[in-house]
Amino acid sequence: MKITELNNKYKSLSFQERLEQLFKDFPEEEILITSSFGTTSMALLHLVSKVKPGHPVHFIDTSYHFPETLSYRDELVAQLGLKVIEVKAESKKNKFTNENQTWRFNQDLCCFINKVEPLDKIKSGYQVWVSGLLGFQSMHRKNLGIFQEKGSLLKFHPLIDMSKEDLNLYRQLFELPTHELLKQGYDSVGCTHCTQKGSGRRGRWIDVDKTECGLHETQGWIKNRMAG
Ligand code: SF4
Repeated sequence: MKITELNNKYKSLSFQERLEQLFKDFPEEEILITSSFGTTSMALLHLVSKVKPGHPVHFIDTSYHFPETLSYRDELVAQLGLKVIEVKAESKKNKFTNENQTWRFNQDLCCFINKVEPLDKIKSGYQVWVSGLLGFQSMHRKNLGIFQEKGSLLKFHPLIDMSKEDLNLYRQLFELPTHELLKQGYDSVGCTHCTQKGSGRRGRWIDVDKTECGLHETQGWIKNRMAG
């Protein structure tokens, strides 16, 4: 089925129906689900626990997460019964970024080593990649469809048209926990080195021309050297 047909087919479905339909249209073993366990992650994770309990959720562990993010992950795992698989960079490469403090002067390279490359290594076995991107988070995300072609994969964003108000209602309705740092004024949370308090994604990679880690949109260093 073409991407336009898929988007048309899924557009009028509810968020839960979209995920249910995905598991009817594609083989379960070819569906990759990732989560950052960030401040907005709980809705997709709750849907996964309802629609396909036990389906693996991949978490990219950069080794630079806030302790509050790891606690939030553990809290959601306990509440929703999630099966989480950690994805990590090769230890020598992660060690290099730690000693070199690569995040201080080349965030694209640091993200490539600790996020993009580790996930690239496991993507080949999958046909569809599910993530909880929300359109209200940035202009780039606002323009994404439910389905998007990304290399050899189809990206699937079942919550892309969920509003911030709907997300908060969803959290309250299903009594889902709140990330501790959201309570402290961090709307978006990534690695400790690259996250400050702020609304929307303004607290991410502050003072540099970077808005995405490279997982969902190819950024400068990667685009110039790796994407042709
Ligand atoms: S967000 Fe910062 S610390 Fe984390 S991988 Fe990217 S550059 Fe490195």
